[in-house]
Amino acid sequence: MTAQTTTFAAAAVVSPTPRVSRAADRSIDPGNDAVCARCRERIKFSARSQARQVIANVYQDGRWQRVEHYHALCYADVGRPYGEAV
Ligand SMILES: [Zn+2]
Repeated sequence: MTAQTTTFAAAAVVSPTPRVSRAADRSIDPGNDAVCARCRERIKFSARSQARQVIANVYQDGRWQRVEHYHALCYADVGRPYGEAV
């Protein structure tokens, strides 16, 4: 038996794990119960407004720490600490 069966995982190259804090702009789902990290109020779904929320994955020294939720306006208010929400 001489065949080399070793395979290399290419997935690590295709989708590297981000190691820095980043923010994502998302619509607010019905039943959302996250609390805004700035104003401490619920981020509530509203069918009438096109409300947006910002979900930030917070990393420290390359290690994931926590998720923070913000109203989109609150996130802008605190100066976008985790970068532009995308
Ligand atoms: Zn808020």
